[in-house]
Amino acid sequence: MKTTTYLALTAVVLLNWSSLAWACSFSTAGCQDIGNTCGPSQVCAFNPEIGNCACRARSLITPPLDPKFFANQDFQAKVPSAFVLQPQTLPFVQQSLIKTRIQGHALFNVIHADGQLSDSISRFSQLQVEAKLNILKKVFQMEVALLKIAPPQLIFDKKTLRATFFDFDPAHPSPGRVILNPDLLFQDPIPYAPILFLIHETRHSEQFQLAFGPKSDPGKLGQVYRSAFVVQRAILDKHLSVSFCDFLTLANEYEAFQFGNLVTGALTSGKVDTTGMGTWASQYLPNGELRINLYNLAQKVGPSSLLRAFNEIEKGQYRPSH
Ligand SMILES: [Zn+2]
Repeated sequence: MKTTTYLALTAVVLLNWSSLAWACSFSTAGCQDIGNTCGPSQVCAFNPEIGNCACRARSLITPPLDPKFFANQDFQAKVPSAFVLQPQTLPFVQQSLIKTRIQGHALFNVIHADGQLSDSISRFSQLQVEAKLNILKKVFQMEVALLKIAPPQLIFDKKTLRATFFDFDPAHPSPGRVILNPDLLFQDPIPYAPILFLIHETRHSEQFQLAFGPKSDPGKLGQVYRSAFVVQRAILDKHLSVSFCDFLTLANEYEAFQFGNLVTGALTSGKVDTTGMGTWASQYLPNGELRINLYNLAQKVGPSSLLRAFNEIEKGQYRPSH
């Protein structure tokens, strides 16, 4: 260091000692760490407890969560019985985790037992449109038979604006309609997406029949699905803007993604990309465990802190473009 620079720095230090500016303190730009007094894992930030700037652990400084992506307690609190992050639906979460796993593995076993079908599924993206449609029809029939439900209508419609959806009306309960637009769906960059969504949308019919059908389930599953479908209908009809996590922690979406991801993951030996297929509470790790097991998480943090803890983990799935 040149002598002149050294002297100049010393002068600044001496000058600032009296005003304590050689520290983490207020400046015109807010809290500033003049002289790097905070440690490497710390930041100079306003600490409301002492009413001043202070070195604080980085982990304690949390930027506000993007309300378009994360779960919002204020929104979910309007109809808590529809969302799996709310304390009152914890019995649903516990019960559905078991059912989804059992039925998911059962559907995989049925499809896998048909060697020709499972072989075609592994080559799905290379097949002609007609062959792809035949696979979807066959998987649909197998799912309907396994779940022992009244079959929803399966409609391939090239005119719909959405690539895939389940059409339902709580005011006029029926098995509903599974509607797929092959032109849009077969362009999906994820090669196995058509199979995943076919399984997902057909699962919605099972949920809808549990909620509203003649053999509706008066237990926890049916009641929660009922709330979720009513809320979802209102969201769709009123074109409400709902965050990614709020929409996908509606009980029916949470479970349908879990079911579709499980079966398609098993059929493709984990090759299907489920990155955007629901929240991490509906996605699986390579070892077959859920990325977020909501029941286990609620046991750990307490049911009333579940949404907050979920959001904290979901930071890993968050991309600012959502
Ligand atoms: Zn869905």
